[in-house]
Amino acid sequence: MSEFVFIQVVVPQALPGLLTYKAPLPLAKKLLPGTRVVVPLGRSKLLTGVLHSQIEPPEDFPLEKIRLLADIPDDDPLVNATQLELWEWMADYYLCTPGEVMQAALPPGLKSQSRQMVHRIPGAFPNPEELSDKEYILWEALTIAESLSMSQAALILQQNSAAATVKMLMDKGLAVVELQMEERFKPKMAGFLELPPELKEETALRAALETLSRAPKQLEVMMVFLQLTEAFSKKFIPVRKSFLQEKVGQAGTAIAELIKKGLLTEKQVEIGRLQAQEGAEAKPAVLNEEQQKALAALQQAAEKKQPALLYGITGSGKTEVYFECIQNTLNQDKDVLFLVPEIALTTQLIDRIALRFSGLVGVYHSHMSEAERVEVYRSMQPGYMGPNPYPRILVGTRSSLFLPHQNLGLIVVDEEHDPGYKQTDPAPRYHGRDTALWLARHRGIPIVLGSATPSLESWVNAQTGKYALATLLTRHGDVKLPLMEVVDMGKIQWEKGDDRSISAPLIQELQRCLAERQQAILFQNRRGFSLLMKCLDCSHVPQCQHCDISLTFHKNNGELRCHYCGYAVAKPYKCPACKSTRWIEMGFGTEKIEERVAELLPGAKLDRLDLDTTRRKNAFKEILQRFAEGQTDILTGTQMVTKGLDFDRMHLVAVIHADGLLYFPDFRAQERAFQLLEQVSGRAGRRQRQGKVLIQTYSAEHPVIRALLNHDTLGFYQRELQERKTYAYPPYTRLVYLNFRHANEQRLHQICQQVAQHLKGYPGWTVLGPEAAGPKKLRNRYHLRIILKIPKNLARPALWDYLRREAEWIKSIPSSPELHFDVDPIG
Ligand code: ADP
Ligand code: ZN
Ligand code: ZN
Repeated sequence: MSEFVFIQVVVPQALPGLLTYKAPLPLAKKLLPGTRVVVPLGRSKLLTGVLHSQIEPPEDFPLEKIRLLADIPDDDPLVNATQLELWEWMADYYLCTPGEVMQAALPPGLKSQSRQMVHRIPGAFPNPEELSDKEYILWEALTIAESLSMSQAALILQQNSAAATVKMLMDKGLAVVELQMEERFKPKMAGFLELPPELKEETALRAALETLSRAPKQLEVMMVFLQLTEAFSKKFIPVRKSFLQEKVGQAGTAIAELIKKGLLTEKQVEIGRLQAQEGAEAKPAVLNEEQQKALAALQQAAEKKQPALLYGITGSGKTEVYFECIQNTLNQDKDVLFLVPEIALTTQLIDRIALRFSGLVGVYHSHMSEAERVEVYRSMQPGYMGPNPYPRILVGTRSSLFLPHQNLGLIVVDEEHDPGYKQTDPAPRYHGRDTALWLARHRGIPIVLGSATPSLESWVNAQTGKYALATLLTRHGDVKLPLMEVVDMGKIQWEKGDDRSISAPLIQELQRCLAERQQAILFQNRRGFSLLMKCLDCSHVPQCQHCDISLTFHKNNGELRCHYCGYAVAKPYKCPACKSTRWIEMGFGTEKIEERVAELLPGAKLDRLDLDTTRRKNAFKEILQRFAEGQTDILTGTQMVTKGLDFDRMHLVAVIHADGLLYFPDFRAQERAFQLLEQVSGRAGRRQRQGKVLIQTYSAEHPVIRALLNHDTLGFYQRELQERKTYAYPPYTRLVYLNFRHANEQRLHQICQQVAQHLKGYPGWTVLGPEAAGPKKLRNRYHLRIILKIPKNLARPALWDYLRREAEWIKSIPSSPELHFDVDPIG
């Protein structure tokens, strides 16, 4: 028998597989799967990992070389069995490592790392003559600070590294270095005041109060305190110190005196950073007949544990149907996970959920602070005793799939078609909808996918009976679908000098909107002013220095900017190549559209919603608020205007340049274009009055445009699916991308060719490429892609093993490119 137990640990690093450590035998009982453990890695680093399992002593490795774990920071496991299974499934399916999954799964505050701290050895004093200047400076700093991190020390020495100087101090017996876990999460504490136990008895309290006869301020504070603590009904509720100070102005000194005299005691208590989303509770809607049918279909699917697709046109009341499903789940004492593609664009929806289910709703997404995320995570763990409310309904982005859900009874995936569900970088490159489907199946709970424009994947699954289908084909309350019109830009008679961004029919519609005090949204999928600058004499187009991307002109600060890496230069006055002044702006971004509308409709109140106007915190909310309050007549924006906005006076939606969406070299381009245009159209006239949609395009006969005009979603889906079948694309095959990056273009080509040859040796799949995917250079690194098209009947495990081995081979060769897999890519 060994005197150690051996454990396998997931550490948050891109290492393949799990790492093995040992721990003294008496700790075995504490070492449960999912427990956090602090382990050494490399020469001078401690990391927080998660225990995967206890194992038998490894036979192929000298046991004394296995390292000891350093600490077990918690009493109970942080990660439950279902979560660990999710991690494993994800690492396997998405061809990444468990460590990469852990990185995504746990909020940063729960993954502390070590820092090297330099301490002064107490009582040791140097002979100043023996110290160099640097050593003396550091020594002096240590006598003041007692201990410093290595980076603080470097800063004091004004050097890149303090290692050499620290080493000298150590050799002279003046300092030691120690690894210390940095504490990333700090609970938020507040002082609470209580009556000491002996004063809870009435006569004693009276006597104590009498001693205050000559301290009127203290007496006043005590009297208010006694009321707040409800002493007279013997409740003795702890009173928050800041609250008492608010009630009695300038009470700080008096409170301190009272504590000193023993009339009050103070203790520090953790207070929560989270607030349940609350609102005046909204009454449930009475479902109309179509909605009731849809609900019944969803309930039937739930009983059969079958995933369900809720296909409902915009304004049909999908949200009301979700609400009934949620209510049913709560009635069964189960919790709900409500997934949304992106939080910023969902504030209206969250407010609505919070109104209906006041006090039960929590949110979770990556824009929250680290500490808030840790508190959400903690508040969902079993046995949580902290101050935060328990979120019965968790509304969140894809990362909330990783939370320690205890009692889940339903998952809703709203806007299931949205590409925002897919994580593109870094690994794990997982799809939130597909992961939710896995989780629901694994836990045996119902899942509802909802959309007005379902993904073709889900649509096919609903057609083949793999999913149940519930449909809502009319808008609630007989609100009509918007009137759809195309402006054929090729046939417009333009005035000389017109920039051809806004056609006469659109100007007229906007004028009518203004006259009738209605609002309009203008959708243009590019931000900035012009799309590019071009020289009419030499055709030069300025490019980013680091990427194979042309620069976009931003008029507000006169810059040419790369939208990929942020590189920016001042706009040159002349063509940098030939010095010609016939140097013009081509195409238009949202900034230019807004400027043009201002020229055409002076007096209209304009606003803009895009990445440039929403960088500031809360800017997004403020722009929407102004629109909701009617301070804005015309809102110009990118994709951000396409989702979820629901306003009373929204009448007109105009698509400025539909062609910009129609011609991407990507098998999903048509599907995306249709979804985006249908979603943005859905913003028009959602209330009593029929709205209007105007699409400006040079491709009036394009199938996507025809389908939109006729509200012919199903016809479009049928045709598009036929194409996918013919060309063997998803949902009829599985795709895997192998994305390669390397600083040297030739080396990259050479290796990719080799890899493609290897892959072609494996029977059954189709290998395409290597080829450039989008810009061939980004941030100074060259990109190539190999595409695998995999028939659905090929058994996955053997293929995936093959791919993993290929990846290992690539890693083993000199000057190898970086490779990452993208399983089920979205574009
Ligand atoms: P979707 O989510 O499908 O776009 P919503 O749930 O937002 O549709 O519904 C559109 C509008 O109709 C909302 O203002 C909603 O409150 C209202 N509505 C939908 N169904 C009902 C109903 N059964 N009773 C009352 N109002 C409803
Ligand atoms: Zn030129
Ligand atoms: Zn760039």
